[in-house]
Amino acid sequence: MLGSLLALLPVVGFVVATPTPRQNGLQTISNCEVSGQIALTFDDGPYIYETDVANALNGGLGTFFLNPPSQLPSQLPSQPPSKPPSQPPSQPPSQPPSNFTSSPPSPLRANHHQGNNYECIYDHYQTIRDLHAAGHTLGSHTWSHADMTTLDYNGISQELEKVETAFINILGLKPLYFRPPYGSINDLALQVLADRGYKKVFLWSDDIGDANGESVSYSDGVYWNIINDYPNPHLVLDHSTIQTTSSEVLPWAVPQLQSKGYQLVAVDTCLGANGEWPYEWVGNPGNPDSSWTC
Ligand SMILES: [Zn+2]
Repeated sequence: MLGSLLALLPVVGFVVATPTPRQNGLQTISNCEVSGQIALTFDDGPYIYETDVANALNGGLGTFFLNPPSQLPSQLPSQPPSKPPSQPPSQPPSQPPSNFTSSPPSPLRANHHQGNNYECIYDHYQTIRDLHAAGHTLGSHTWSHADMTTLDYNGISQELEKVETAFINILGLKPLYFRPPYGSINDLALQVLADRGYKKVFLWSDDIGDANGESVSYSDGVYWNIINDYPNPHLVLDHSTIQTTSSEVLPWAVPQLQSKGYQLVAVDTCLGANGEWPYEWVGNPGNPDSSWTC
């Protein structure tokens, strides 16, 4: 009996996108589960390109993980290498966009957030309402883009609660989906998230590298590999705060993905039966007043 069980063990390693066991109702997710579907996710907004991103999705739906006050570059910690870099593209795109460039990244893109003065969520409340009304999914990315593993229980709670308050003010909804900045998470943070009712922590299967200063051609190559992996599901990390993502990468990659057959959906959809409504209804949205500040 034991021998036959052991003989089965190697098979487990080949099961793709099996959800992790729930911990107090909370799951960590690294990939979509529905064949033929892809979830493009956009971190670090709101800034000024969210509408461009939504338009570039060409009728598809996306997911935005927001960190509301979006600190000034001088306030940001340097980015810890919490994950190994994604595999470099093995093959360049065969149909590059017309403004294709292979030049090295500009200094402004060489550091996460650098060169961008990201803005307060309350200054963009109408954009957030529009994204929600259009069917895109919105989640939390902490209040101050904090590395959760550096905080104690109360510090983690405050990072989450302030985002929840902003969501409740603007949408009347509390977010139940979360992405940790830098992909950095530990047991304590998972415990706090579970205690606050969160349902999913999202990592990713592919990183286009836009926040790490990678070139447009690098990002295109990541998408090219995905296009050639159809119909396997993917969960892609992008940033709505990087201009070239909305102006160059997506306008090339999205039509290619769609013509290959991929459905662009939000993360709650691509989990199939394992997904859920990503919010808790709290009440009616509020009206802007002097408390709507970061
Ligand atoms: Zn981020």
